[in-house]
Amino acid sequence: AAVGLLATGSIAACGDDSSSDTGSTSSSAKGKVGVILPDTKSSQRWGTDDPKFLKAAFDAAGISVDIQNAQGDKTQFQTIADGMISSGVKVLMIVNLDSGTGKAVLDKAKAAGIATIDYDRLTLNGAADYYVSFDNVKVGELQGQGLVDCLTANKAVKPVVAELNGSPTDNNATLFAQGYNSVLDPKYADGTFVKGPNQDVPDWDNTQAGTIFEQMLTSNKAIKGVLAANDGLGNAAITVLKKNKLNGQVPVTGQDATVQGLQNILAGDQCMTVYKAIKKEADAAAELAIAIASGQKPTTATGSITDPESKKDVPSVLLTPQSITKDSVKDVIADGFVTKDAICTADF
Ligand code: BGC
Repeated sequence: AAVGLLATGSIAACGDDSSSDTGSTSSSAKGKVGVILPDTKSSQRWGTDDPKFLKAAFDAAGISVDIQNAQGDKTQFQTIADGMISSGVKVLMIVNLDSGTGKAVLDKAKAAGIATIDYDRLTLNGAADYYVSFDNVKVGELQGQGLVDCLTANKAVKPVVAELNGSPTDNNATLFAQGYNSVLDPKYADGTFVKGPNQDVPDWDNTQAGTIFEQMLTSNKAIKGVLAANDGLGNAAITVLKKNKLNGQVPVTGQDATVQGLQNILAGDQCMTVYKAIKKEADAAAELAIAIASGQKPTTATGSITDPESKKDVPSVLLTPQSITKDSVKDVIADGFVTKDAICTADF
């Protein structure tokens, strides 16, 4: 019933019938598998969803895991890696903060005979043994199409579109942009849309995104749509739009189906988000690591991605993302990623 109510998109439908799940933090016990996550600010997922699902997968297999978060600090990332390597992990899984520092860590691990997995972000030239992620070009295509659909529904005439791209040092941001520009460029070319300001947001920093978008809007008042590469950047834009009483009139995209993003969608301030089933991603990565830690050769990385710098193929698991609008927020709840309660404890 809860889901049915939410399908109407009405915030008034928010009730109190299910318990909220805030996730859990990682174990600090040293073990056979080490996982380094990047930060807790660029997206809700790294501090909440990924550690929760990864820990559950390793616990279920009885494999000890040490999950740590570098808090956006590259030196800290290196220090954590050194600690894990000297503690004797068999597998090291990382979400790099940039390819250069990620590669340094992967190289050290490999020199110590440790198997390596790039989790979510490909480390360019890193030559990890495996890569687990989503089809990230597809993520961008869904964002581009979502914005086209919202602008069409708004009957926007030659709307100026601003783009807030992810971190220039994250290969995923490159892939997302490739995806959404493949949808938007033809619209710019045929004059349906007008190409507005376009900027990368260093380290996906939400605060900087707000400053950048404020400048964009000040110098281009005609902005009628915002391609924001994830929910955090989207929320930064929405905050600025709110100050200018433009929220709800200017569609903004996102990614990650964060609690805040879903709330913004239900409030009518955000056009869409992209749901990436983190549990599936965590399970797929854990499955590879568990096989290696158990002395077996993994068999599940049946896909591959070509590292654009080294031109080498990395055996991969690439999952399918899903576009989420007001009507399909219920799908994210039904998948168990978020509870109705968590979305409805909003502070509107
Ligand atoms: C991830 C996104 C996330 C972003 C910022 C990307 O590499 O794929 O899910 O929103 O980093 O943390």
